[in-house]
Amino acid sequence: MSAAIIDGKKIAEDIKNEIASEVLKLKQTGVVPHLSVVLVGDNPASEVYVRNKGKMCEEVGMSHETIKLPVSTFQDELLTLIGELNANPKVSGILVQLPLPKQINESVIINSIDPFKDVDCFHPFNVGKLSIGEPVFLPCTPAGVQELLLRSNADPSGKHTVIVGRSNIVGKPLASMLIQKSKGANSTVTVCHTGTKDLSYHTKQADILIAAMGQAEVIRGDMIKPGAVVIDVGMNRVADASKKSGFRLTGDVHFDSAKEVASAITPVPGGVGPMTIIMLMKNTLKAVLKK
Ligand code: NDP
Repeated sequence: MSAAIIDGKKIAEDIKNEIASEVLKLKQTGVVPHLSVVLVGDNPASEVYVRNKGKMCEEVGMSHETIKLPVSTFQDELLTLIGELNANPKVSGILVQLPLPKQINESVIINSIDPFKDVDCFHPFNVGKLSIGEPVFLPCTPAGVQELLLRSNADPSGKHTVIVGRSNIVGKPLASMLIQKSKGANSTVTVCHTGTKDLSYHTKQADILIAAMGQAEVIRGDMIKPGAVVIDVGMNRVADASKKSGFRLTGDVHFDSAKEVASAITPVPGGVGPMTIIMLMKNTLKAVLKK
């Protein structure tokens, strides 16, 4: 058996077109969704992420700005800026690119964002609303995973979903979403982490297996139940002398062995990656509609 490939690029493109037509409709009523992105310091990876977010805003017809602050910025200065963005009615969504320089406490900053402009869905208010099944926003990467499943005819309802990873940005919020008694969720969820004994025992129980560990190619074919749907959130850089860059990107799943066992699988790159940014656009649009 060779698994069907879940094409995240194509699915993200479809959602992008749906969002672009919603944005167009809104614009006809004089409303333009606006995303403000704050970048502190000059981390090269963050610069790329921020640039891509701006580009995507343009592609769906939203306005955006990137506010760049020096690495030496004090926490109070950033709090003042966020206060201004919170108060500005033209700003629909606020995203502070993480990580932040060490003199700034990330939790303090996240807590200062207006929860109704918190398009990353990191504010404790939004985490709480998500966990009681009344989400304001859905967190971007977990929402991207859910969309991939639904648009690949792999509704998690009634299935056993095993998530490997319990981070606050992927594993935990994804588990929180998928256990809800709601459409596109209603799954029996197991969450594994480094404290899990016999990881393979658990992964082999999964109808849907989601790897979000940040460990290159740890999940191999013999850890997967035949016919399972496998979603690989991982993005790891592995040294590869044959590449000009000196590295290649790989997931947490060993793709070649997994695809012989799974019924469907996401590639890396081209799986979950393109979905995360499109879900950010969806949240920015939602922020306007919630107003
Ligand atoms: P974190 O490092 O914050 O969390 C990793 C989680 O995996 C932890 O809960 C950890 O357990 C668990 N884990 C690590 N190794 C093992 C192991 N051997 N067995 C069982 N559990 C393990 O990572 P993130 O959640 O932020 O990201 C995970 C991956 O997803 C990364 O590769 C990241 O780059 C990628 N990512 C991709 C995105 C995309 O858009 N495609 C977006 C966000 C992340 P413990 O808690 O016990 O330490």
